[in-house]
Amino acid sequence: KYAGPLWENTEKIKSEHIPPSVFNFYKKPLLLHQGHKQWLFDHTGRRYLDLLAGVVTVSVGHCHPKVVSAVKEQMDSLWHTTNIYRHPKLYEYVEKLADKFPGDLKVVYLVNSGSEANDLAVLLARLYTGNNEILSLQGSYHGYSSGLMGLTSMQSYRLPLLAPSGFHHVRNLIVTKNYGHFIFLTSFPPVALPAWCAQVPLPDPFRGAWGGCRDSPAQAPGACSCPGDCVATDNYIHQLKQLLEHSVPVRGVAALFAESIQGGGGTLQFTKGYLKKAQELVKNYGGLYIADEVQTGFGRTGDHFWGFEGHGVTPDIVTLAKGIGNGFPLAAVVTTRDVAAAHARAAYFNTFGGNPLASAAGKAVLEVIEEEKLQENCKVVGKYFIEKLKDLQARHSVIGDVRGKGLMLGVELVTPGSKEPLDNSKVLDILEATKDMGVLVGRGGKKSNTIRLKPPMCITKEDVDFSISVLDEAVRSVMQ
Ligand code: PMP
Repeated sequence: KYAGPLWENTEKIKSEHIPPSVFNFYKKPLLLHQGHKQWLFDHTGRRYLDLLAGVVTVSVGHCHPKVVSAVKEQMDSLWHTTNIYRHPKLYEYVEKLADKFPGDLKVVYLVNSGSEANDLAVLLARLYTGNNEILSLQGSYHGYSSGLMGLTSMQSYRLPLLAPSGFHHVRNLIVTKNYGHFIFLTSFPPVALPAWCAQVPLPDPFRGAWGGCRDSPAQAPGACSCPGDCVATDNYIHQLKQLLEHSVPVRGVAALFAESIQGGGGTLQFTKGYLKKAQELVKNYGGLYIADEVQTGFGRTGDHFWGFEGHGVTPDIVTLAKGIGNGFPLAAVVTTRDVAAAHARAAYFNTFGGNPLASAAGKAVLEVIEEEKLQENCKVVGKYFIEKLKDLQARHSVIGDVRGKGLMLGVELVTPGSKEPLDNSKVLDILEATKDMGVLVGRGGKKSNTIRLKPPMCITKEDVDFSISVLDEAVRSVMQ
């Protein structure tokens, strides 16, 4: 039974003690009380189907009993740092996690958040290559530390401004309150972002300068006549080459960061063959490829355990967070022995990274994914979901694009009859109506006009049917 503060009192506490930049979703934000599998319950006991859990952390289901008991059991015996000592849980866990990776990706650093993992990945890439500059793709989200802000671009689709010292772009950033769905603006107040970041033009099949085709879901017959890789890919790669030629030479490129499918960017899939060609190109300039698998990892995309495997590439460094602990704070950087050796000159210490509780949670998550065949579930239910979304698109001209893989899906909303992003207030109304009917979804993309669907990996086809009827009704009621 719920025994916390009244909803009204949380408003008062928030206004007095929570930073104003912390946003909540919805006009009347949810006061959550409990979670179970794919459902969340608010303080009144009302149940919601959580199609957003995977964006924000939960992979195998809220409060999965196996993960809960692994952490509870560990709680009774030891919680402490395990980096200056050894602890069986950490050792068992890193061995099991490393086993999931191909090639030489066998060395595991355990940390506490995705931002921390990406910060460490930047350091490793610089130490290994001796270069300084880091590239990321427009629309990406890689974290929120003062360094990573320069890699995270979200809605700011601006090319770096060139300056004498290589590239030097000072973008300004602010988070606005917008019923809790964040929007990054490029106006004020002025915040100088790191000069060592540059954003690569986005190979976006739906909105990019050359369009292009993505590898999944299959395009309609005849939509793509490219014999192998999409021809548009070469144009986007040419843009990347220009950036490397004209902006990077002074201090050299240390790495290209990329999500396998952009999450915050609106479940954005790149054009066919892009990641592989980009990796090869950046490698020729001396840089590594860092795969940010914070949202795409752990079987979420269905066909593969890691999103990058779907692109036929093997990264030099992989970063993991969110679903890795099913809600427990845990993150990781996985790399090769060679890359880690470049870091061996310095002692590495992280107080809580891989502590016994986090390692217990991480290990249990891997076991649940295997035992309950959740990667397979993502594949089967994800395929069903995308088919149903395509049917929905045929009924509603406000749905401009349906995309994604496995249980990482996106529905881009447009002004009917055009590709103009749907007006923000209408998008928010659709999300509000969806919530009122008991389904929670997220949003992202260039203008925050893409509905993001990333449920716990255990949802069923019945949940999909329910979600589709709710989305159908929400879109119909707002757009009529
Ligand atoms: N990378 C990606 C792809 C993310 O989506 C996020 C979080 N939204 C991060 C990194 C940062 O993770 P954290 O919030 O744990 O710092």
